[in-house]
Amino acid sequence: MDLHPDAHERNLPRLNVLLAGPRGFCAGVDRAIKIVEEAIRRYGAPVYVRHEIVHNRFVVESLERQGAIFVEELDEVPDDAPVVFSAHGVPKSVPAEASRRKLFYLDATCPLVSKVHREAEQHFTRGRHILLIGHAGHPEVVGTMGQLPEGTVTLIEDAAQARTAPVPGGVPLAFITQTTLSVDDTTDIVAALRERFPEIHAPAKEDICYATTNRQAAVKAIANRAELMVVVGAPNSSNSLRLVEVAERAGCPRAVMVQRGRDLDLSLAEGLATIGVTAGASAPEVLVEEVLTRLRERFTLVIEEVVVAEETITFKLPGALQTEGAR
Ligand code: SF4
Repeated sequence: MDLHPDAHERNLPRLNVLLAGPRGFCAGVDRAIKIVEEAIRRYGAPVYVRHEIVHNRFVVESLERQGAIFVEELDEVPDDAPVVFSAHGVPKSVPAEASRRKLFYLDATCPLVSKVHREAEQHFTRGRHILLIGHAGHPEVVGTMGQLPEGTVTLIEDAAQARTAPVPGGVPLAFITQTTLSVDDTTDIVAALRERFPEIHAPAKEDICYATTNRQAAVKAIANRAELMVVVGAPNSSNSLRLVEVAERAGCPRAVMVQRGRDLDLSLAEGLATIGVTAGASAPEVLVEEVLTRLRERFTLVIEEVVVAEETITFKLPGALQTEGAR
């Protein structure tokens, strides 16, 4: 039992907390943050980062304090400063422009996103038209579509679009997906595509990444025991948004997203016996701790961690950061 030191004295009501495991940082996010930190250490501040390195304000602000400057486009980066591309991946035009300007750049694209980029290229080389299952406007989708010439990839956002979206006739088709989708929604969309195009080529191995899959499975494992699910994450984080949806669909009456402990409305937990807590892949564990600290203001917590998978995966830093030396 996890008791605040003076919980008994304060006679606070008991609240069971189911902690989803795994939760929080994935290997791709961990690598992206290390790339920025290591770049600052080696080359000195400032290091520019194109787009939020990962979708979490706490992480971004802590890197800013170390000397990172976040920009949206390359034209905001001076010629003599290093620049890092975010974990979500970038269209090919971005490194091309960086090379043209002779910028020193480091690519923090998650290797599992890069894998999807390579799949897209292989399908294109084989003359296939590609259907990309994903969310319009998400930087990963922009990056993946930007691997290939315009018009060679059709975005499919839901099962209805899978059934009706116009596709070019007379060419073979293939589908790929964003890495952070809802596993269940994607199954439905793929089923609709296969029904309409029985010959469509599928990824050799699932594009939805291990971290997304595991975090959704962990939420499902606790959803029907929890009366409220608190998801630590950011509203622009795709995998965090999916955790809110997955919790509610798996039987939790209410799921809320909070960015920081102070954002949690404690009255939501009043009168409840059990809540669940999880965190998206871009949310650090310290923010989960913040939520627990916040809950302890009004409750005596009894914490149980429910782990559905052990994660041991790590990704190497880019070659330029693996050896000591100047750029
Ligand atoms: S959520 Fe998955 S694809 Fe995205 S950075 Fe993490 S491991 Fe990579």
